[in-house]
Amino acid sequence: MTGIQPQPGIMDIKLYVGGQSSIEGRDDVIKLSSNENPFGPSPKAMEALKRSAHLMHRYPPTDHAALRAAIGEVHGLDPDRIICGVGSDEIIHFLCQCYAGPGDEVIYTEHGFSMYKISARAAGASPVMVSERDRRVDVDAVLAACTPQTRLVFITNPGNPTSTILTDAELARLADGVPSTAILVIDSAYAEFARGYDGGVSLVDAKPNIVMLRTFSKAYGLGGLRVGWGYADREIIDVMNRIRGPFNLSVPALAAAEAAVRDRAFVEKCLAENTRLRTWLADALAAKGVPSDPAHANFILARFASEDEAAACDAALKEAGILVRRVGGYGFPESLRITVGDEASCRRVAHVIGGFMEARA
Ligand code: PMP
Repeated sequence: MTGIQPQPGIMDIKLYVGGQSSIEGRDDVIKLSSNENPFGPSPKAMEALKRSAHLMHRYPPTDHAALRAAIGEVHGLDPDRIICGVGSDEIIHFLCQCYAGPGDEVIYTEHGFSMYKISARAAGASPVMVSERDRRVDVDAVLAACTPQTRLVFITNPGNPTSTILTDAELARLADGVPSTAILVIDSAYAEFARGYDGGVSLVDAKPNIVMLRTFSKAYGLGGLRVGWGYADREIIDVMNRIRGPFNLSVPALAAAEAAVRDRAFVEKCLAENTRLRTWLADALAAKGVPSDPAHANFILARFASEDEAAACDAALKEAGILVRRVGGYGFPESLRITVGDEASCRRVAHVIGGFMEARA
């Protein structure tokens, strides 16, 4: 025991526990617990990563210019308004470190991503939880919770683990209503899967106090390399860059992410498969008495009759070598979050859940 106290707030943080990734004694596990891309990364990203190996002894570029240029080209954005981080996790951290401190409030919603609360506490600020309604962000409740002490407002859109989405009108109302003394952060980690959604770009362009967060971990299948990015007013980007470690992204991560974002054909193919299989899986489970809301990300939140039933189904899935995510910690003890895998995994998970429900009937 050192007896040395950490900063206030740190010991209030609950350890983040990631999705289970293996089952002891099995090497045939179907992993549908972390919303990863079942098709893996683009082959072009893998080639770029291998080609970057000869630069391993060199420090990476500090400005991420090539990656920001590629993201800018693909999304039609000014690269000077983009920041890249070690996953979008790191950018959530930057925002809290730069803009929130003791006495400040950071709003997040009931079922929102746990890093918002962790980063707010790490910065010494007070996290303020706002209830959701029917598994959706409640815009009125979020606006009602804003006070003069509010510095950051985090929402996830599409939501995780809900897979629901706000309409453009709801998002615009939120953007208009958040006071100009606070920053609205639209975490669009799953934006690609919500066809037709711009992730909040138009809102960032319309107002200086809005930040959009994106990631290479989901649609681009690069979760293991840890690359995320944010789009915001130049002033906010400049502020965050001041605390960013100069070499935060590695040489292979930068190379792979640049190739991945440029390979539009690959990502479009993955997204088309996700859309098709997501509908198929939701329909298949609903037919067996396990409903879910229309999904807008690469997972569905499958609802069971009770916590016991969800736990028993989770156990049956594990027995069959399938890992999904229990989401009691996110407020849904009676639900399982199931990543939409490839066709064979979707059929397998539907078969096991179907069998489980029939056995209980
Ligand atoms: N936001 C949301 C809503 C997420 O679900 C995740 C990943 N679980 C992240 C951000 C972080 O993504 P990454 O750090 O891998 O970019």
